[in-house]
Amino acid sequence: MLLMTEEGKIDASSARKRRAALASTAASVVLTLAKLAAGALSGSLALISEGAHNALDIGVSALTYFAIREADKPADENIFNPRLWIWRQSAKIR
Ligand SMILES: [Zn+2]
Repeated sequence: MLLMTEEGKIDASSARKRRAALASTAASVVLTLAKLAAGALSGSLALISEGAHNALDIGVSALTYFAIREADKPADENIFNPRLWIWRQSAKIR
């Protein structure tokens, strides 16, 4: 399936990666809210710390989504592109 973006059409493999990153972000949002709510209601410090962990995962998976989007852009003629380098490093964080 092709996905339309601001850059135009991307291939099925890229569309699948982007959907996976978005699904991961959505799952982290649900887990964060559920664990923080359960932690607040029960007073369980373990659940609250798990909720904080999932809140960080929201940022990590969102970063992954933007890294995939950057990686889909065509390569330019520069030998070293600092912007691309930063995005590539960010994809290795998880
Ligand atoms: Zn995690």
